[in-house]
Amino acid sequence: MSLILGTRPDRLNPSDERGLVYDDAVRQRTEALYPLVRDLVTPMEWPALAPLIDGVRRLKAERGAVILAHNYMTPDIFRLIGDFRGDSLQLAMEAAATDAPVIVQAGVHFMAETSKILSPEKTVLIPDMRAGCSLAASITGADVRLIRQAWPGVPICTYVNTSAEVKAESDITCTSSNAIQAAEHIAREWGVKRVIMIPDEFLARNVAANTDLSIIAWRGRCEVHESFSGRDIAEIRAAHPGVTILAHPECPPDVLEEADFAGSTSAIAHFVRERSPRKVVLLTECSMSDNIAADNPGVEFLKPCNLCPHMKRITVANIYDALRDMKHVVEVDEDIRIRAQRAIEAMLALPRPTRPATFLRGRPPVPVELI
Ligand code: SF4
Repeated sequence: MSLILGTRPDRLNPSDERGLVYDDAVRQRTEALYPLVRDLVTPMEWPALAPLIDGVRRLKAERGAVILAHNYMTPDIFRLIGDFRGDSLQLAMEAAATDAPVIVQAGVHFMAETSKILSPEKTVLIPDMRAGCSLAASITGADVRLIRQAWPGVPICTYVNTSAEVKAESDITCTSSNAIQAAEHIAREWGVKRVIMIPDEFLARNVAANTDLSIIAWRGRCEVHESFSGRDIAEIRAAHPGVTILAHPECPPDVLEEADFAGSTSAIAHFVRERSPRKVVLLTECSMSDNIAADNPGVEFLKPCNLCPHMKRITVANIYDALRDMKHVVEVDEDIRIRAQRAIEAMLALPRPTRPATFLRGRPPVPVELI
């Protein structure tokens, strides 16, 4: 519960702090929601959470807002108040399609910027401006301009986990769902066999192992995924015979080599839904397992996972505050926005695969050129 509510024994619970009470009306309005989180919230804890959930739902209606909930959000956000749920690509597309005048990004800052880039007329709120990303912080727009000078004639394919100014210097963006497709597309369009993939070194290396392209990579890392290793997989298999191991492509290549399956968070969720493995380990952010466990009751989720401290800055309580006070508004400079939009739209124009794309497992690492 403490992960969900962020409660501390020396403080009031977040509902009390905001003057929200668990009365009969709240109880009635929220009783159908409790079963969605009963595996994580005890009946004693629910009265502390329910008034906040009810408050967010009321404010959403008053403001005409939608909440975009990333797969790494805690289940109270993901299951109880998120209007659209999924990975970066899904959320970017929902941001572009929704008519709602207000978007609350339950995710990190670069995601909120992406929503603003695609929906400049809408008010985009992020509940905590400090929700950053180690990967996005590893590179700036000035870095990309220098890269462009150093490798003229080589297209730049940029992971969406970057700031608006980095996207603005790029030729196409990609997500972990379509990184291989985007790199191959931009290479074809430019008539070249080399692509610069920034900023995630491991995603770039994993793409390199899955294409014939020659890849130039930046040394950025996701602090959640970089800490998994092939040795972890051996230890998990020894401790849990028969376990199915699923990995995100931000993990190092030796992890993808040893895993049973590798793909974006959507691809992982799809795999679990379709195959119903008896016992799984998801080598990605911890909330991912919690969020898909509810839809897969026959699957046992083991949890050697890592928490993203940036994603965990977003809570139901600060989503409530953001909607109540219409804070913290995310803005993007118009010149940057227009150029970043071009790169994102180049990605959104790619044909949508009928199934989430996967990385082939067991591919030996191939060399990449490191910037
Ligand atoms: S999980 Fe990794 S890539 Fe995603 S926000 Fe956290 S640090 Fe950034």
